[in-house]
Amino acid sequence: MNGSTAATPVEPCDFTVFGGTGDLALRKLLPALYLRDRDGQLPDGFRIVGVSRAEADDEGYRVMVEAALVEHVPSDELDATVVRRLLGRLHHVTLDVEDVADWHRLHERLKDGAASDDVIRVFYLAVAPALFGPICDHLDQFGLATERSRVVLEKPVGTDLATARAVNEAVGRVFDESHIFRIDHYLGKESVQNLLVTRFANTFLEPLWNSHWVDHVQITVSESLGVGERGSYYDRSGALRDMVQNHLLQLLCLVAMEPPTYVDRETVRDEKLKVLQALRPMTPDLVDRDTVAGQYAAGLCDGAAAPSYADEVGHTSDTETFVAIKTEVQNWRWAGVPFYLRTGKRMSERLSEIVVVFKEPPHPMFPHSEGTSEANRLHIRVQPDEGMRLHMTAKEPGPGGIRLRPVSLDLSYATAFGQRSPDAYERLLMDVVRGNTTLFMRRDEVEAAWTWVAPILERWSEPTHRPRRYPAGTHGPFAANTLLERDGRSWQETGIE
Ligand code: NAP
Repeated sequence: MNGSTAATPVEPCDFTVFGGTGDLALRKLLPALYLRDRDGQLPDGFRIVGVSRAEADDEGYRVMVEAALVEHVPSDELDATVVRRLLGRLHHVTLDVEDVADWHRLHERLKDGAASDDVIRVFYLAVAPALFGPICDHLDQFGLATERSRVVLEKPVGTDLATARAVNEAVGRVFDESHIFRIDHYLGKESVQNLLVTRFANTFLEPLWNSHWVDHVQITVSESLGVGERGSYYDRSGALRDMVQNHLLQLLCLVAMEPPTYVDRETVRDEKLKVLQALRPMTPDLVDRDTVAGQYAAGLCDGAAAPSYADEVGHTSDTETFVAIKTEVQNWRWAGVPFYLRTGKRMSERLSEIVVVFKEPPHPMFPHSEGTSEANRLHIRVQPDEGMRLHMTAKEPGPGGIRLRPVSLDLSYATAFGQRSPDAYERLLMDVVRGNTTLFMRRDEVEAAWTWVAPILERWSEPTHRPRRYPAGTHGPFAANTLLERDGRSWQETGIE
């Protein structure tokens, strides 16, 4: 659906994208900047500088970006005048970030024609994490990291606790923590932010949001796609590092966190950190009992034959493409409430959803009724079709006896607000320019998440451990169902249709 969001312009800025010709920049970052420009949020003097080793001049880069906008921005959002304006902001600097001899080019480009001497500078590192340290060192060496500079780190920030610390230390030597933006685009999604508003701007949920009334929580992030072009990266990563350590744990934090005194950058992150620190530590026995790793075999996905993971990456592999985990937040509010996390590739559908399942009524009040009554469930749909659905039990209309029927209260964002939901990157990029770190991960959060994940990584690295196969196009390995069935529960496979 078309529609602009009211937008206050940001300050002029030199927005440098290292990896400006890469997939992330062309598919996500530049379309997001275009849409912010379309909504009047980019002022005169807002420049975008793409950096890569490609021998492209400004004009060549503009042609490349124009093609990307046509491909990745919905056609009803494309406005030729705005496209021209955005292209006019673009520059390209050919630079191998590891070669110090090239860096004077970026230095000259940023000095030349800047809106002011102390213009805001954003350095978005859309390159391999191994380059984060060298880039920051060179930014420092060439005097480009000023008081008004911010650096954005794409995931993954490390591949384990030690490498995450090394990245954080290298970047932290140059940039103050308040100028470091570790992006997790899930936190920029409208429905994820609305989770905080739903919890903290309404009173009715808070008395129920605890172990007295909540039976358990499920968080599912499933994709129907396979690894595709990302095979070589993914095979070294796997679903635990790629999805659980960041996106799923961040969603869990927002569900479980205590209300902060007020919502701002540090209070929210303080409360999320406490949740990560309260997660039940994993021991080898718990890893064996409460985690499931899977890998897709050939199957049928989205109505077409889908190859196995091994065929996609071209060799046999023990990398997991599916993870299910049962955990618990060991604090006063949540003790005893299981949190079940699940993510996978090549599953039956693309879906990100949080389901809070409430307890059954304490006593059967309608013993002679017909029909079925189910425990209340709140489905929070993160994507696609963002919204919420509260499942309740109602009396079916009609005379005679009482017949119970499950019904639902629905909130669809598209219907309720009648405008498109901005992509997560649109909001997050503007937050970076404004210097607002609330929706970005702080160093201690990232390291706490790696600390919790570490025993699982370690146990799974043992040679006897093999991911269980599941046919592409299904809900994952059977063992993921058993994880809940042994507790008398089951995954909620249908949410908001
Ligand atoms: P990509 O398509 O391979 O692009 C990499 C970019 O970095 C290219 O522009 C490349 O251009 C540039 N580059 C590589 N080495 C360079 C060097 N030494 N000096 C200067 N530029 C260099 O990768 P991507 O998919 O955009 O991903 C970039 C990063 O974001 C990765 O760390 C990835 O894990 C992360 N990420 C990506 C996505 C996504 O959806 N794509 C999502 C989340 C996170 P040249 O080769 O011409 O130099």
